[in-house]
Amino acid sequence: MRRWLFGDQLGPHFLDEPQQTVLMVESRGVFERRAFHRQKAHLTLSAMRHRAAELGDRVLYLKTRTYREALRLAGEPVDVCAPTTLRARRLVDALDDVTVLPPRGYVTSHEDFVSWADARRGTLRMEDYYRHARHRHDVLMEPDGSPAGGKWNLDADNRNPPPRGVTRLNVPPPPEIVEDEIDAEVRADLDRWAAEGVEFTGVDGPRLFPATRAEALARLRHFVTDRLPLFGPYEDAMLSGDPFMAHSLLSSSFNLGLLDPVEAIDLAEQAYRVDAVPLAGAEGFIRQLIGWRDYVWHLYWYFDAGYRSVNELHARNRLPDWFANLDADAVDARCLSDVLSGVRDRGYVHHIPRLMVLGNYALQRGWRPAAMVDWFHRNFVDGFEWVMVANVVGMSQYADLGKITTKPYAAGGNYINRMSDYCSGCRYDPRTRLGENACPFTAGYWTFLHRTRERLSGNVRMMRSLQQLESIHDLDQIIAQEQDRGSRAP
Ligand code: SF4
Repeated sequence: MRRWLFGDQLGPHFLDEPQQTVLMVESRGVFERRAFHRQKAHLTLSAMRHRAAELGDRVLYLKTRTYREALRLAGEPVDVCAPTTLRARRLVDALDDVTVLPPRGYVTSHEDFVSWADARRGTLRMEDYYRHARHRHDVLMEPDGSPAGGKWNLDADNRNPPPRGVTRLNVPPPPEIVEDEIDAEVRADLDRWAAEGVEFTGVDGPRLFPATRAEALARLRHFVTDRLPLFGPYEDAMLSGDPFMAHSLLSSSFNLGLLDPVEAIDLAEQAYRVDAVPLAGAEGFIRQLIGWRDYVWHLYWYFDAGYRSVNELHARNRLPDWFANLDADAVDARCLSDVLSGVRDRGYVHHIPRLMVLGNYALQRGWRPAAMVDWFHRNFVDGFEWVMVANVVGMSQYADLGKITTKPYAAGGNYINRMSDYCSGCRYDPRTRLGENACPFTAGYWTFLHRTRERLSGNVRMMRSLQQLESIHDLDQIIAQEQDRGSRAP
């Protein structure tokens, strides 16, 4: 039977046999409904068209406004690996001539996750699931059932600030992406769509992320041999002159389905077993895949559809225009301006700027979590709805009051100062909470605690911070200062 491949099912593991016939559908309507980042649109279309070129005459590649229209044109029954959004899942389930197969592209099965989660009675922690999954799939395990190196969690080794006095980490850059005629054709199409009224965010630029399996594999192999050794210690650090640090830059490749996470885990573990990379690096990378990636995937389906709009902290403010429009030049706060410019110019910043700069700022200001899910989804090259719902609602915005994390990821400027080189060149002072030089993150931290103190009062991990709040003698002035700042860019 012909296999229908969605645009995030592009690797060979989505086919059963090499000669299988394929249906692919490119729908301009997807880009007309919401404004996506220009480089995300380019990457997605480029990856789909490159895959179609590889498949040659085995693919029926249709450009239609809707999927239903394409299936009518195809005129034959198809099967499809379960798509990754609720909306698409409902669509394929409702279509007569479509057989839906189990999802692919994840390490662990949903049945396994459900039986694990059901047994936890509401307390779900990624760390617990990660250990369960490593056991079950024999990843970084010793023959006696203990974790490699004797420890499950090497976060303590992986939370170093950036090395002092450097502007870049000493790691070789990933293999360069060379655009081809397919990229040029996509660029011309997007230019034409924009002229016809389709809106995009961000700026266009050279393609920075893999659109083919060959490019993704080259980046994976290079990462494991040349960048992974330094990934672990500095995975939480930020340098203004080095947006990529030693990160793999592979999240978009996994999420487009170009790579199977199992092959990446195997490569990283092999490198550790032959002493080519330290355990902390291999463990940190594997944790991102079998830990966070699989975990948020399963949560997307495990929680009901209403989870996306959960808002237990009553965060009701709309995203200000400067943030929604990625207007980094409107921002003085050096960390926020640099990170926002990274989103605007590349459609990518790594997980700490996402969590501790962008998410932290939104959490402090009480911006609507659902709007943040949508913002992250549209503006990041690796952003998909299933990725962002639990990551943003549960982790970054703590809108579920702790279903998946133990406390809010709210922090003042001292955290950013410790983990980056931003503050030394900033007009604000991370130690100051009041006055001209008051760091908006430091002042925002105290106003966040003040606003949410009742909702957070039952959280033992917040007790110390809430006690400190009681001793802030100038709290009223900080609140007045932040009210005065309102939604203006800091
Ligand atoms: Fe960011 Fe505050 Fe540091 Fe400026 S002082 S870079 S606003 S944390």
